[in-house]
Amino acid sequence: MSTTLSQRPRLEDRPQLQHLTAQLNDLKAKGTYFHLRVLDDMQAPVCHYDGKQVINLASNNYLGLTAHPKLREAAIQATKEYGVGSGAVRTIAGTMKIHMELEEKIAAFKNVEACVVFQSGFTANAGTVSSILGKEDFIISDELNHASIIDGARLSRAKIKVFRHKDVGHAEELLKEVANEPGRKLLITDGVFSMDGDIGPVDKLCDLADKYGAIMMVDDAHASGVLGRNGRGSVDHFHCHGRVDVQVGTLSKAIGALGGYVCGSKDLIEFLYHRARPFLFSTSHPPSVTATCIAAFDLLEQEPERIERLWDNTRYFKSELGRLGFDIGGVTTPASETPITPIIIGDGKKTMEFSQALFDAGVMASGIAFPTVPEGKARIRTIMTSEHTRAQLDQALEILETTARKLGILA
Ligand SMILES: *Cc1c(COP(=O)(O)O)cnc(C)c1O
Repeated sequence: MSTTLSQRPRLEDRPQLQHLTAQLNDLKAKGTYFHLRVLDDMQAPVCHYDGKQVINLASNNYLGLTAHPKLREAAIQATKEYGVGSGAVRTIAGTMKIHMELEEKIAAFKNVEACVVFQSGFTANAGTVSSILGKEDFIISDELNHASIIDGARLSRAKIKVFRHKDVGHAEELLKEVANEPGRKLLITDGVFSMDGDIGPVDKLCDLADKYGAIMMVDDAHASGVLGRNGRGSVDHFHCHGRVDVQVGTLSKAIGALGGYVCGSKDLIEFLYHRARPFLFSTSHPPSVTATCIAAFDLLEQEPERIERLWDNTRYFKSELGRLGFDIGGVTTPASETPITPIIIGDGKKTMEFSQALFDAGVMASGIAFPTVPEGKARIRTIMTSEHTRAQLDQALEILETTARKLGILA
């Protein structure tokens, strides 16, 4: 028999975890404490969170694939044919034919020798960075790189050197500083930065990597399905094929399901099979997820018009936000060049108030504050999809404008 909350033992009365309660109270005082918003139906441009209908500007569902009929059908078919789980980690007994098929599909799509799929983009980054380097090595990393890169860097025990955001000159200084050290150097950037929506200078960093003999790595989580021909990512966007040693992507955003992957040489992938800890010690994807991803890559080839619609919507939404007078970056932060458009507010508490007021008025746009972004750079982050209609965007813009005027964010 399952129990109701009041029947369960009260762990909160014990002293062991009281320091957590204290920190939560801190967040409440600062105004950055949050409740998880609960989606009642499915990801869509208009959907219901906490029982309320909203225009959704918060998901990473760039191409609307989370609900695509062909992908759902692929998941159902794979479940019928192969069951709901893989039953083991990849290296023991959990490598299914369908896993190998997806890896080959991605490798061909990305125009690389080989690919390995991880359970998530997070584990792809953390598992890769931590296994290909050791404590005598150096990581030269953009200050706004994703948390999973930072965690992987820490786990590797390599020395971490951080360059100012997108500052290629600063990255070169750091590479020069360690040029005579015996350790290997890894130069790493996000293809698209998740909080600012700007594009990493992949081509220029490739030049640096070539010049200094550094390993070049790009995390394309927000670029996969968005940038490059048919959504092939930032390496394709910058025509840098053959110059990036390690390409990471996610299957959780534009691809619509869950997972992460690493693309590169055959030896890189075989090495990760042998050494990447999430690959070795965590169970592989269920067949449904893998089949969904295979179908998604087919769609990127078959329905490129989704990507065109995404960019049309992006251009329209950005220009309207600018016209209304919102700070969408460019002065305080680099300007967004992608479907991610931050509306910079600055103060964390004010940002959370704005986000809540928008929600009450019918727009879901997440407020993001410290520590996800630097102190003083709190923002509302909006993300466009190919599936938003012009009418939905106009309605969202109207709500953004009236709410911002009420709160004194727009004059
Ligand atoms: C979301 C994200 C990841 C993690 O991907 P998941 O598949 O969600 O684990 C990694 N890097 C960047 C830049 C991201 O935005």
